[in-house]
Amino acid sequence: MIDRIDNKLCNGCGICAHTCPMDVIRMDEKAKKAKIAYPNDCTSCAMCEKDCPKHAIYISPFEYRPYPTSFGV
Ligand code: SF4
Ligand code: SF4
Repeated sequence: MIDRIDNKLCNGCGICAHTCPMDVIRMDEKAKKAKIAYPNDCTSCAMCEKDCPKHAIYISPFEYRPYPTSFGV
């Protein structure tokens, strides 16, 4: 599950907000930084962490939330 976005590293490029398939990350237009808007919707796919050019996003391996499926696995 997404744990944090380091504001000191974030350059406001917006890549993570576009990458996240669950709409967890939004851009704070005033601060020009990414912010975690809906953490409980995170599926731990780590796409945002991989795509961030500044390595500002940390996905915790200890709070794994698998993608929900219709067959419950
Ligand atoms: S991809 Fe990284 S640097 Fe770009 S807005 Fe997101 S956290 Fe900030
Ligand atoms: S780990 Fe996946 S679901 Fe969670 S915030 Fe990043 S891109 Fe979105």
